[in-house]
Amino acid sequence: MAHRLVVATLCFCLAFTLATVGLRTWSAWNSGVEVMRTELELVDQVFEGPLAKAVWELDNESLAAQLDNVAQAAPVGRVVLRITRPGRSDEVLVRQRESFTTLGAAPLLQQPLKVMPYPESHLQVGTLMLEGDPALLWQRLWRELAFIIITQLIQSVALAGLITLMFHRLVTLHVRHIARHLGQLTPRNLGTPVRLDRLGTRNDELDLLCDGINQLQGNLGTYLEGQREAELALERSRDQLATLVDERTAELKAANARLERLSRHDPLTGLANRRWFDEIKETEYRRAMRSGQPLTVLMCDVDHFKAFNDRYGHGEGDECLRSIAEMMSTLFCRPGKLCARLGGEEFAIILPATDTGQARMAAERLRQSIAALAIPHGASPVGPYVTLSIGIAQLDSTAMEAFDQLLQRADQALYRAKAAGRDQVAS
Ligand code: GH3
Ligand code: MG
Ligand code: MG
Repeated sequence: MAHRLVVATLCFCLAFTLATVGLRTWSAWNSGVEVMRTELELVDQVFEGPLAKAVWELDNESLAAQLDNVAQAAPVGRVVLRITRPGRSDEVLVRQRESFTTLGAAPLLQQPLKVMPYPESHLQVGTLMLEGDPALLWQRLWRELAFIIITQLIQSVALAGLITLMFHRLVTLHVRHIARHLGQLTPRNLGTPVRLDRLGTRNDELDLLCDGINQLQGNLGTYLEGQREAELALERSRDQLATLVDERTAELKAANARLERLSRHDPLTGLANRRWFDEIKETEYRRAMRSGQPLTVLMCDVDHFKAFNDRYGHGEGDECLRSIAEMMSTLFCRPGKLCARLGGEEFAIILPATDTGQARMAAERLRQSIAALAIPHGASPVGPYVTLSIGIAQLDSTAMEAFDQLLQRADQALYRAKAAGRDQVAS
């Protein structure tokens, strides 16, 4: 900016110098002409008398000497003396410098030469014409012109230098300082205001600029602080939300597990229900068919349970069913084996990799264990305690095409056990 200002100032000064030089040259020329005219008048005053006297007395020698003197006077370029000869043509005497030229606008002075032969009588004896020396005029003008140009140039350069210095000290330094401050601005140092390195407050444009920047910094700081607080609040509520989501997910998982359990288990006894039994039976059937290993099913039914209910009530009946189920769990519920309550007082047990012989022993153990529970059953014609009838069937992979056929066989065996007097195992 300072450089551009200097160039502009110099251009302006140059144009101004040209105009000033033109004006002052014209003025100097006029005053030069005026000065020369005055000088010529002085010369005229000095030599007018002696010349007139020499003409009047016809003293040619003195006349020539006087004319030479006039011609040598500094401002005179040419001197022309016209002597009036009554009845003859005028005699003209001329003296001029070697360098004299009629070109130019040197002043010209023409005066009559008069003598006073008698008091109070004036007689014109000739005319004296003095022409100024144009070379001298020009020489004086050039000198004046050189002075004018030099002073104007010095003035322009000094002015440009002063403007540059002032602009640099008053503006450039501070603008650079402000630019540096803005360049180093970060959200952390927004609280540091911009300050100019100068004395006092001047309430000028720079102070206004600083005030504006400091106000902007303050506003930005407040805005960022608000935003930071909003972010923190958002973070906190996000954390709370995440905790809430975790809690809800855990609750949902537990509920799903409960639901899963409920959907697969019999609520009274906790054994597998019919639905799960149907799922497992298919899996075990396919596995046995694929592996060729034996698969056995036990169908169990509590004997005369209706009479038990009638005698002891439904609540006791439920308690009895729970005790029987617990015993079944204790004896059979191991990995791969499945005890299920199919409905009412009927239970089924799937025994993979178990043949009829092994199954019969297991069923016998179950029957004896139930009898050993010694749950009183006063209404049973079989005995004093609750008893269990069990039917066994083993999968015949060549003859059976579905698990239900195996189940049917076990049911038939159970029917036979019932028919044979109950509290026994049939296969
Ligand atoms: P059987 O020896 O021929 O099997 O005779 P049963 O009386 O045991 O057979 P029946 O099918 O005639 O009766 C079954 C009874 O089981 C009828 C019902 O009162 C009882 N029962 C079915 N489900 C429940 C139950 O959830 N709780 C109770 N307490 N009793 C049930
Ligand atoms: Mg029954
Ligand atoms: Mg029964």
